[in-house]
Amino acid sequence: MDGIELRGNEDISLPLPEGMDAETAQPFLEYVATKSATLRAEAVAMAGPHITVGREPWPRLKFMLDVMRAGVIPQTTRTIDEFVAAGAKIECRDGCSFCCYQNVDVTIPEAIMVALRLGDPADPRRAAVIETADAVKGLDDEARIATARPCPLLVDRRCSVYEDRPLACRSLTSPNAAQCHQAMSDLDAGRGVTPIEIYPVLRFLCSGEHAATRGICRDLGLQDDFVELSQAVADIIRDPTLIERWAAGERVFSACAV
Ligand code: SF4
Repeated sequence: MDGIELRGNEDISLPLPEGMDAETAQPFLEYVATKSATLRAEAVAMAGPHITVGREPWPRLKFMLDVMRAGVIPQTTRTIDEFVAAGAKIECRDGCSFCCYQNVDVTIPEAIMVALRLGDPADPRRAAVIETADAVKGLDDEARIATARPCPLLVDRRCSVYEDRPLACRSLTSPNAAQCHQAMSDLDAGRGVTPIEIYPVLRFLCSGEHAATRGICRDLGLQDDFVELSQAVADIIRDPTLIERWAAGERVFSACAV
């Protein structure tokens, strides 16, 4: 992502998606910032003092997960639906997976939602997550794609955590499926990384939900950085107490640069 140039709800910045500059983002800024501030204000009003005061981790964790499922994710779905209703053609289909070969920047509640789906010690995805996290640690997006190593949650070319997939995965959409398939073939055949078109505007529109999530975490005294999905989920698999410690207000995850 480009540098941080725009403000979401005063103290949370809105990173611009790749392929978008501040001038292009400007007409959408008020919509994004309003949506973000509204989501944040509603959540914090709902939280009440029993959540915001004190350091009881489990009620705060439950609250954050409820906010994601009842507020943030449905709002993201509405944002995408409105984008399509306005005339955008999204060609992403079941089984398309080219976008699952790169780093995924997520908020910490999103990483926890995914990690909670891998709680069974016998789940083979746990070892895959750790192996992938170690293999791609520190790689930038282009270098990560060039490894041709998919997201460890991709099983038979389908997202195995689809209902809880991160906001970044929801908003990464293509107007041209044929281009994605060609890029996938190139990667499989060792021909390197072929750039594809995406909709940066939709990514920016959905950054309001990201900013709201970070703002709510901040208001609850929780670490609000972006983290890389594989790395954060691997950290939780290695040490499940990280979830409780995060919900108690400790900074326990490595932030990724955005
Ligand atoms: S979480 Fe799901 S949609 Fe996102 S990169 Fe991984 S497999 Fe793909």
